[in-house]
Amino acid sequence: PGGVDLDVAVAEGARAYELDRAHVFHSWSAQGSLTPMTVIAAEGSYVWDGEGNRLLDFSSQLVNTNIGHQHPKVVAAIAEQAAKLCTVAPQHVNAARSEAARLIAERTPGDLNRIFFTNGGADAVEHAVRMARLHTGKHKVLARYRGYHGGTDLAVNLTGDPRRFPSDRGAHGVVHFNGPFLYRSVFHSQTPEQECERALEELRRVIELEGPGTIAAVILESIPGTAGIMIPPPGYLAGVRDLCTEFGIVMIADEVMAGFGRSGKWFSIEHATTEAGPVVPDLMTFAKGVNSGYVPVGGVAINDAIAATFTDRVYPGGLTYSGHPLATASIVATINAMEDEDVVGNAARIGADVIGPTLARMRDAHPSIGEVRGAGVFWAIELVKDRETREPLAAYGGSSPAMAETIAACRKGGLLPFANFNRIHVVPPCNIGAADVEEGLRILDEALFVADAHTA
Ligand code: PMP
Repeated sequence: PGGVDLDVAVAEGARAYELDRAHVFHSWSAQGSLTPMTVIAAEGSYVWDGEGNRLLDFSSQLVNTNIGHQHPKVVAAIAEQAAKLCTVAPQHVNAARSEAARLIAERTPGDLNRIFFTNGGADAVEHAVRMARLHTGKHKVLARYRGYHGGTDLAVNLTGDPRRFPSDRGAHGVVHFNGPFLYRSVFHSQTPEQECERALEELRRVIELEGPGTIAAVILESIPGTAGIMIPPPGYLAGVRDLCTEFGIVMIADEVMAGFGRSGKWFSIEHATTEAGPVVPDLMTFAKGVNSGYVPVGGVAINDAIAATFTDRVYPGGLTYSGHPLATASIVATINAMEDEDVVGNAARIGADVIGPTLARMRDAHPSIGEVRGAGVFWAIELVKDRETREPLAAYGGSSPAMAETIAACRKGGLLPFANFNRIHVVPPCNIGAADVEEGLRILDEALFVADAHTA
């Protein structure tokens, strides 16, 4: 891989591992029981582990390397910007920031015309909520169960899956509601139409019971990501939009994971477009794919009405690194590369022509697969012990030997998967080629026989 001497890197990797275990504190982990994988090099859709083995990266790291690793144009843009101007305070104008804001605003739907840059996804969510509260003068935020919004204090409380439990202080004003998820429908629905209708009734009920005059925002992922890639049934997001409009509630669409090509569209909310037109949220959060994760960055796209709230009134919030030049230069290069190389179109085609049909065949062949679902390069395989009862292969919020063995089999075969609870996600870079995807799916297919052995 580009410029890396693997023998040297393997030797350095051993030292890095020792130092890591001595001094590094890792996210979401019991530090004592960790055996983290070392990454010594990466290129395109591949990474090299500490022993120098090449692995196909079906995780896109944390579902963020949307144009793969070490894209030469983005690497060059970061180096060029570093040579020119490494840092600039948020109150000043900077060319990279201005251009990044334009490129993003031109791609977001409707009148999401103004961009506030953050350091990542969680702080984008925090700021979106603050903007919604200041704009409406109301306080409560409704958030979906089975959603993820980040690891900071409010964002983790907005999160609607078990990862929030240990830190959940019952954050002031946060109320959760059930969204649509037909495979495990809490509404006992049989069809997507029923699920949509009942989920919208549920949201209306929660709004009415909580008091519309107290609710600042509804936040939800347009397609929930780490919670399971549940594509909402047709009409659901349009219905949420209508409810928010009816009750004067700010609709915040979290596109941190699903945005920037992942679902085969620039933003996953575009899948929700109906004959009535596109579904346009009031605020939209993004991060990850906006620059393929090369420099930490995220942001909030703000509609005209909310932006106008802060025309004469100070927005009481900011970040030292809001619109950092290295980050925004990498955004400019990433979006331009995505356009030049039709990366979003590629993700759509790979999903429709390769991943979707192959996973459908795998579902028929493997009793451990309960359901496959997704779009673009954003797919989940829901693994179960028993197809009839749909008992998951690992408990909600937990892990299991069956899952661990299946993931180990992927790794042994040369594939780095993304796994969460009882699911394996197929989330390779958006610019991956068909041959690489087919190879990764073949390795996954083999590994799933390990999961099958744990079925009833
Ligand atoms: N929202 C969503 C939908 C996410 O998937 C994530 C990250 N997985 C976040 C917010 C938080 O982003 P970050 O980790 O960059 O803070």
